[in-house]
Amino acid sequence: MVEIKKGHPLKAVLFDMDGVLFDSMKNHTLAWYRALSSREIPCERDEFYQYEGATAEWTINLIFERTYHRQATKQEIEELYTLKSKYFNELPEAGPMPGAKEVLKIVREHGLLPVVVTGSGQQSLLKRLTEEYAGFVNASTLVTAFDVEHGKPHPEPYLKGLQKAHAMPDEAFIIENAPLGVKQLQEAGADLIYPDMSALQKYLPQLLAEPHNRA
Ligand code: CA
Repeated sequence: MVEIKKGHPLKAVLFDMDGVLFDSMKNHTLAWYRALSSREIPCERDEFYQYEGATAEWTINLIFERTYHRQATKQEIEELYTLKSKYFNELPEAGPMPGAKEVLKIVREHGLLPVVVTGSGQQSLLKRLTEEYAGFVNASTLVTAFDVEHGKPHPEPYLKGLQKAHAMPDEAFIIENAPLGVKQLQEAGADLIYPDMSALQKYLPQLLAEPHNRA
């Protein structure tokens, strides 16, 4: 998903991480499912695709409210998140999303700043992010679960991303994926929808060259 707000010249492009820069969502959903099931907390693996971008605390509380009609304690959140991270780290490494590096290159070539905005606090993946995408992502252009109170879809992570880029909302666009399918992206108001990063790579130079984006 690419959302282009027209107005000022573009300064930055905000990238989501899971499902955009790494093909990692299948690992997250399986790790969550294994962690909660091991504590006999009822859940379905596929439901975790819906919570993509949310913080661990938010996800655990949602399931606790539904199951036990209360919020989880700090200790419970910590224990379950540690367990989830353990299962996540046991899975084969998620590869970089095909076409993502090329998209980052194009963004740079057009003089725009790439900023990564993720709700993730998964240390192993964050470390790989700065290695795999070295030269494109560093601490000054990265917003993670550690920087925000609220996970996506709350606007806070994106607003922090804009701050890091010193950009106004109409000076940036966001590249997000569609964990629940394209229809939901349309309903959420995505301006442009591409089937994958390779398709975006093909159309991006043309998109960035359009006068209304640059003037
Ligand atoms: Ca995502």
